[in-house]
Amino acid sequence: MISLEAVTKRFGKQNVFADIDLTLERGEIIVIIGPSGTGKSTLLRCINFLERPESGRITVGDVQVDAQRASRSDILKLRRRTAFVFQNYGLFANKTALQNISEGMIVVDKIPKEQAHARAREILERIGLADKSDAYPAALSGGQQQRIGIGRAMAANADVILFDEPTSSLDPQWVGEVLSLMKQLASEQQTMIIVTHEMQFARDVADRVVFMDEGQIIEQAPPEELFTAPKDPRTQRFLRKIL
Ligand code: ATP
Ligand code: MG
Repeated sequence: MISLEAVTKRFGKQNVFADIDLTLERGEIIVIIGPSGTGKSTLLRCINFLERPESGRITVGDVQVDAQRASRSDILKLRRRTAFVFQNYGLFANKTALQNISEGMIVVDKIPKEQAHARAREILERIGLADKSDAYPAALSGGQQQRIGIGRAMAANADVILFDEPTSSLDPQWVGEVLSLMKQLASEQQTMIIVTHEMQFARDVADRVVFMDEGQIIEQAPPEELFTAPKDPRTQRFLRKIL
């Protein structure tokens, strides 16, 4: 299970959000939507302490971290329970596809290199890039790079994968293959929290859609409910603009 309890984040004097609560069951898929600057990325980054919240408690699986008392080792434990997929892929430019996927297993999980490479090859197979094992990111399309980004997250064996606008940097022709890989993960009951503007994807895949505005969770509901009968006027206004 994953939970955020009373999580508060400030940048200097700016309150990004205060007392945010959010809970997910294992295998659940949540899509977060909301206007730009609302705190969606910051919320995602607080879950694994890429941004340190001022206060609140984060639980991922059997790891629970209180922001005000978090030690370096607590944060590392929490990070090992989570994986992150970035908008700009975040690949190592000087490492091959295989090395990008196996790096975390070797460095973080201390898995012997041969074993890590074997597992990375299995993942390359699953993400449809077995033939690109030795390619460097610069030689791959955006869609292929992001599939490697997702493959690296799969390799982490995390309790939850956090996606921050995974298709926003892609040329339109590559969006479909990345969403379809994410759908594949969804069908395998991978727990995911996804910030995206892909509303059709949210309808197809999300168990729950969370609408955020100005640092608050305004409402959350299954997609068919949130998209067809939003309760809050702020949700209604946002959906009118984008749908
Ligand atoms: P978008 O849809 O444009 O990605 P978002 O909902 O992800 O927006 P955030 O990036 O989380 O929004 O930003 C929330 C607020 O925090 C914004 O006002 C932003 O300017 C501010 N902010 C984000 N990161 C930082 C930072 N590192 N330092 C200072 N302010 C920041
Ligand atoms: Mg963002």
